[in-house]
Amino acid sequence: MEQERAGTPVVTIVGGGLVGALNASFFAKRGFQVQLYESREDIRKAKIVRGRSINLALSHRGREALKHIGMEEKIVSKGIPMKARMIHSLSGKRSPIPYGKKDQYILSVDRANLNKELLTAAERYPNATLNFGHKLLAWTIDCGTMTFQGPGGEEVQVNADFVVGCDGAFSVVRRQFLRQSRFNYSQTYIPHGYMELTMPPLDGQFALAPNFLHIWPRNTFMMIALPNLDKTFTCTLFMPFDEFDKITTGEQVLDLFQTYFPDAVPLIGADALKRDYFRLPAQAMVSVKCSPYHIGDSCVLMGDAAHAMVPFYGQGMNAGFEDCLVFDELMDQLNDDFGAVLPEFSRVRVPDAQAIVDLAMYNYIEMRAHVNSRWFRFRKHLDNF
Ligand code: FAD
Repeated sequence: MEQERAGTPVVTIVGGGLVGALNASFFAKRGFQVQLYESREDIRKAKIVRGRSINLALSHRGREALKHIGMEEKIVSKGIPMKARMIHSLSGKRSPIPYGKKDQYILSVDRANLNKELLTAAERYPNATLNFGHKLLAWTIDCGTMTFQGPGGEEVQVNADFVVGCDGAFSVVRRQFLRQSRFNYSQTYIPHGYMELTMPPLDGQFALAPNFLHIWPRNTFMMIALPNLDKTFTCTLFMPFDEFDKITTGEQVLDLFQTYFPDAVPLIGADALKRDYFRLPAQAMVSVKCSPYHIGDSCVLMGDAAHAMVPFYGQGMNAGFEDCLVFDELMDQLNDDFGAVLPEFSRVRVPDAQAIVDLAMYNYIEMRAHVNSRWFRFRKHLDNF
């Protein structure tokens, strides 16, 4: 459990998503007083949990970080191993492409469950407090005062010694960085959007072989499907927004699927397709690069707040988890001296994280332009997806 500490600064974590929740355990385990502020209500009590995807691929990077706080086994036991990609051709032919050796695999995990487990793990530390329904509105680095909107709409002022920004791609913590001299920032929206659809079980079993990440590569379109514990698959359709916009009727949806993903139509179901396609609008995907990841000895960004990436490499969460581990290792090496650890974190982490952001974007472009003709040659460049 946690080490005892006296007179150490309070660590204020903004964002209780995947990276913020994990980070709370990392800092609490080191003995810091941790205050986590999350804008949403507690998802363990919520009726509907909305995240950026229903499931996601957990790989080695992420598992190493989970291991460090004793959560690896718990999460892995609820994951479904995916040993290979399964490519679905237009004719319905299926060709597996293993991720590595026979015993190597990535895991399909439920995002909401993972987030809940990480919050519960953090809450077990007596020195960690989770504040839900607290949305950061503004803060200034100079005086350290943070203003949150509380659960009843009231303003809550918090004085923060040390701030960890884990508030995702549209980070409010990061806004303060934009005022700093020599802070670099860029963001890029890709022309594609994504939409999730559910493939139900067939006769009580998975409708497709479960231990695969299924891919239907179609040049400018792509659909993928990851298995869930309830024997459904979550299918994600990636398509240019222009194309999404053209489809306005159920018949057009069916036409699209019959033309490009014919083998998926009976498995998702024609009626479900026509209905579910219009449930939610397609979501945008943004890629963010910035540097450095810290201000002085008092604030650091991690996860999507530092390096949001397009999802085609399946590494956004995994890289965010790795941030927590790298930071923790630097704390060990530099005796918990924030003044030394923060610049070192930016020095080692910015190039690595930006390389993953680039690889994710490269995969997006490759898949869009060449994926069918060059798939087999190209596969060695792929990581998760
Ligand atoms: P988030 O998950 O965005 O969490 C940020 C949290 O901060 C949220 O809970 C939010 O409510 C809170 N917050 C925001 N603003 C405020 C505020 N002002 N005050 C207080 N709280 C605030 N990654 C993988 O590794 N593998 C995958 O297979 C994978 N698949 C993906 C598929 C899709 C379709 C998408 C879109 C992404 C995928 N990712 C994947 C990427 C992954 O979702 C992100 O990298 C990951 O969610 C980042 O976690 P985070 O905690 O940094 O940010």
